[in-house]
Amino acid sequence: MIVNSFMTDLKFEYNKTDAKCNFCMRKKNPHPDFDEPIVVKYLKIKNKKFFICINCYFDTIEVSKKTSKEFSELILKKNDIINLINKSDILTIKKS
Ligand SMILES: [Zn+2]
Repeated sequence: MIVNSFMTDLKFEYNKTDAKCNFCMRKKNPHPDFDEPIVVKYLKIKNKKFFICINCYFDTIEVSKKTSKEFSELILKKNDIINLINKSDILTIKKS
């Protein structure tokens, strides 16, 4: 398993009013008992800046452990896929 500083620094921001996860796009804590902004962590990887929610963060840690791929590499790949989807326009609802 590859451990780096992204995986050991567990500082998360709570109640950040403009919080948004760059990976699942959530803005609100999905847990029904919490009516609050999503809990996020700031990441800077190869000059790219991201906010990742606590769920996506630990999901990515799990994938990193299982696949022995670096956490930062997985984050950059996720970001590439999201950018491709956005560019392809498949999520846009077109009015006819
Ligand atoms: Zn997320």
